Amino acid sequence: MTRSVTVRVPAKVNVQLAVGGLRPDGFHDLANVFLAVGLYDEVTATPADELRITCAGPGAAEVPLDATNLAARAATALARRHGRTPAVHLHIAKDIPVAGGMAGGSADAAGALVACDALWGTGASREELLEICAELGSDVPFSLVGEAALGRGRGELLEPLPVGGTFHWVFAVADGGLSTPAVYAECDRLREAAGTGATTADVPDPEPSPALLSALRSGDATALAAALSNDLQPAALSLRPSLAATLEAGTRAGALAALVSGSGPTTAFLVADAEQADRVAAALRASGTCRTVRTTTSPAPGARVCEPATAH
Ligand code: ATP
Repeated sequence: MTRSVTVRVPAKVNVQLAVGGLRPDGFHDLANVFLAVGLYDEVTATPADELRITCAGPGAAEVPLDATNLAARAATALARRHGRTPAVHLHIAKDIPVAGGMAGGSADAAGALVACDALWGTGASREELLEICAELGSDVPFSLVGEAALGRGRGELLEPLPVGGTFHWVFAVADGGLSTPAVYAECDRLREAAGTGATTADVPDPEPSPALLSALRSGDATALAAALSNDLQPAALSLRPSLAATLEAGTRAGALAALVSGSGPTTAFLVADAEQADRVAAALRASGTCRTVRTTTSPAPGARVCEPATAH
């Protein structure tokens, strides 16, 4: 009998990403407002003789299948804490753009943790899972909890946020990825070049925008559109100038707002409703400025077992 557990995990968009100065440890303090969106990876855990990763779906060829895969690291971390070997096959059904600034790898890490915990019956508490997530990467805790949250510190100290309605989004997926560390380094470089300095002594502490939090709370898309911000956007545009044409195409088609998603190169368009989403998506496809276009809504739930353990 082979038991397997499948966990579904959402992508995220940062509706606010305020980046503080470079800290001595090489990280940046953030005020990071995460919103989970309805694009999902699925991670299936099945008992195996040793840890094995497989991946299928768009961009799967770019995903490492060795011990550096974030899902593999998550399984290993959970197994180590519980004194067992991570003898598991993890299959990732990828739908979140790879290296797209939508936390796909982080989603797989959170998915692998929840799947292995269920498969092995480790019974890890929510706190323990969140602790392992924070060790794995600053976006991983949010992938576990989903919905909407304010991330402080490197993004790993999470406070859930209320969301008063459904928001409609269009995402334009660019060709190729952008390395998150490279985008942060470019952000520092641009700050130095502008003469403002890039360290914590030079840059004001990042703070969440009261207008943005209020727009989320009330579910008001127009107010949210006016409050969206991403401090990494100039850096992503500097490294990938062609993104400006994508942002322009979606804006011209009537999107309420356009911004780079996280570290990019995916671009995000907030729209009023499903009809406008279809119109903006069609215009983006016709513009030839991106590889694929996806429409979806937010918020979305965090990592969840999506089918009970089955007997074959
Ligand atoms: P973030 O938004 O959290 O900064 P991202 O969405 O830009 O991340 P990911 O899709 O998480 O980027 O991938 C970043 C890099 O991580 C990839 O280029 C890949 O080499 C590596 N990686 C490790 N594990 C995974 C995984 N399970 N899925 C995707 N990429 C992974």
